[in-house]
Amino acid sequence: MLADELQPDALQRFLRYVRIDTQSRLGSDTYPSTAKQLDLSRLLVEELREAGLADVELDEHGYVFATLPGVEGAPVVSLLAHVDTAPDAPGANVNPQVHEDYDGRELLPALSPATSSLLGGRLGHTIVTTDGTTLLGADNKAGVAEIMAAVAYLAAHPEIEHAPVRVCFTVDEEVGRGVEHLDLAKLGAEFAYTFDGERVGEIENETWSALELKVTFHGVPVHPGLAKDKLVNPVKLAAAFVASLPADIAPEMTEGRVGFIHPQYVVGDPTSATVSVYARDFEWDGLMEKERLIRELAERVSPTVTYERWEQYRNMRDYLAEVPHVVDGAMEAARRVGLEPSLASIRGGTDGSRLTEMGLPTPNVYTGGNEFHSVNEWISAQDMGIAAATAVELVKLWAEPEWAARARP
Ligand SMILES: [Zn+2]
Repeated sequence: MLADELQPDALQRFLRYVRIDTQSRLGSDTYPSTAKQLDLSRLLVEELREAGLADVELDEHGYVFATLPGVEGAPVVSLLAHVDTAPDAPGANVNPQVHEDYDGRELLPALSPATSSLLGGRLGHTIVTTDGTTLLGADNKAGVAEIMAAVAYLAAHPEIEHAPVRVCFTVDEEVGRGVEHLDLAKLGAEFAYTFDGERVGEIENETWSALELKVTFHGVPVHPGLAKDKLVNPVKLAAAFVASLPADIAPEMTEGRVGFIHPQYVVGDPTSATVSVYARDFEWDGLMEKERLIRELAERVSPTVTYERWEQYRNMRDYLAEVPHVVDGAMEAARRVGLEPSLASIRGGTDGSRLTEMGLPTPNVYTGGNEFHSVNEWISAQDMGIAAATAVELVKLWAEPEWAARARP
């Protein structure tokens, strides 16, 4: 089976990539947010060249591009993954543990079939975990490794017909700036797939619509010894605002399709205090409703409050519905590797949310990773083989006349 053939290469690449610290950073004023992300990007450039891809390039923003030429007349398909890892857990000195022939035992103090629902279904698999002190970085180095294994395989098998592929590895996805400088004309694809999902078989065609509102309270600074009836403390205004946010519309209280309001961080001094608030909803109207509520609560605390507003990304669902062949192709590729695929929604965003909105339809494909952004992150090598095989089947399929025709109505 193709998945078995790709598995060792995907695993070896993965183990190599996760040891490189590529953590991105919120609030950085450089792009990418951390220079160390490029350590992996540079290695990928070398490996893409070794594999025989064309137009291999690391551009001035940190994006890696490469071309795998394919059948003429087929749509150009892009495969994307991000090299950075999340700032949510320690990301340096990752020391991956490979557990062969998994027997169902507890792998880390908080990682067992009881705490991670899919683990019990992976008996006999090769499971990769952390040593319990860092994240693993399967988000998204699993996707990077799977795409690399897939294109290296196709480059080594010129007899296999497939669509032209543009590989792209992005930076800073985890801090919401993954495609900020990505030039779609340069990418030159008709549609794309991120390999940045989790459970094998799930194709994600829906993400949050997401808004950040920076709410700034302004104070009147006075020496505290002489402050009576004069001082206005912006830190207290910010605290009162956070305390007034509805307790039940919070990430820790919601799941499924229910959105939330989430104060992400607070910075302040005697002059002003700013609360960064994230609003999330699958429906645009629901998101706007949340924004109105945030403003109403802030103005109740202080009428002089000011805002900075950032529409982070939009749900890709409605855009993808206009080009149904893109998601259908991913579903068909999953079937060809023996899965029964299903559509899923992400309570989050991907590079594909922005790309889809920018005009490049980009649903999200599984990588097999689990417990992302935590020290309990794990992945099965067998699932990585399946995801890599899915990438191969996907670009093969777009070279078939009936699928290529669907891409050109
Ligand atoms: Zn990711």
